[in-house]
Amino acid sequence: MADYYDILGVPRDASKDDIKRAYKKLARQYHPDVAQDKTEAERRFGQINEAYSVLADDEKRAYYDRYGSVPSAAQEGADFGGFGGFPFGDLFDTLFDFGGGGRRQRQARPSRGSDLRMGIRISLVDAFQGASREVELTSDVACAQCEGRRTLEADGFQNCPQCAGMGQVQQIINTPFGRLTQVAPCAACRGQGRQLVKPCPGCRGAGRTPQKRTLSVKIPPGMDSGDKIRMRGEGEPGTLGGPPGDLYLVVEVAEHEEFRRQGDDLSRSLKITFTDAALGASVEVPLLTGEKETLKIPGGTQNGTVFRFKGKGMPRFQRSGRGDLHVEVEVMVPTKLNSKQKKLLKEFAEAGSQEAEPQSFFEKIRDAIFG
Ligand SMILES: [Zn+2]
Ligand SMILES: [Zn+2]
Repeated sequence: MADYYDILGVPRDASKDDIKRAYKKLARQYHPDVAQDKTEAERRFGQINEAYSVLADDEKRAYYDRYGSVPSAAQEGADFGGFGGFPFGDLFDTLFDFGGGGRRQRQARPSRGSDLRMGIRISLVDAFQGASREVELTSDVACAQCEGRRTLEADGFQNCPQCAGMGQVQQIINTPFGRLTQVAPCAACRGQGRQLVKPCPGCRGAGRTPQKRTLSVKIPPGMDSGDKIRMRGEGEPGTLGGPPGDLYLVVEVAEHEEFRRQGDDLSRSLKITFTDAALGASVEVPLLTGEKETLKIPGGTQNGTVFRFKGKGMPRFQRSGRGDLHVEVEVMVPTKLNSKQKKLLKEFAEAGSQEAEPQSFFEKIRDAIFG
């Protein structure tokens, strides 16, 4: 999105009059009724109006200067408190109102703050055991000076002159069904019915200030990538005494060098010697947490064979029990043999009758040693 100041061609410290003058000049130039290139003019005209609607309004401008953008009503819904938000609670009377009797003084009402989302990266070991973490974040909190009221003065707000404090405006429109009165939220005050005239100096009227915070987070065992930890009340502040939103920490479990995770199961590979594979042996399998499990390998075990340890996988998140651990053996063929070993293996090969044994394993060994 282009910068609003650039769109209007004014410096960042431009006065309200400067902004108004720049707007009028550009609006005349790009008005779709007078411009040559209608499509381009419409686009520019829209941008100019959008820029002006923000920069001409003290509180919107303050917000824009601080954050570089202004949330639209559509994006933020009723939760966005800075400008009061669009009055969704009264959607019905903002639609077609035949009698025009739905017009009444509206009250700005408390709204809940927006939820926040933040990623948190943990190791597979943390996911296995659970962990405690300190999370640092910068997010808005209610302004300490005005406590979110946006002004320090009793007369900090005045009724919107555009809608006389009603928060909505009526338009007569002609439709195939006859003339209808359309009641729409007032654009000047965003349906609030009031305008901030004496903004709090602490927050320039935004009612909130960014603050760096540190939160202690408990990560329960068994969490997987995409799981969320909800921290109640740690989101954006509400407005007019509304409750704050929540903070959602979205977990991302980092890859592990040795262990892979599939749901609640873990798998790892384990190197074994070709003699252990051929003759059978007891070997130690290191677990994720550093403990060891004993694996009995039967004689004649093939490369790639998977052994399963039931209940030695990941803890099941918010359920009892654990997944399984799959151990895939990788048979190591020696690359350096001394003359005695070579002699023995030659004798072994010549002893013949390996047909009954699975073929590929011994072929591999032969190829590796003699090939
Ligand atoms: Zn304030
Ligand atoms: Zn208004």
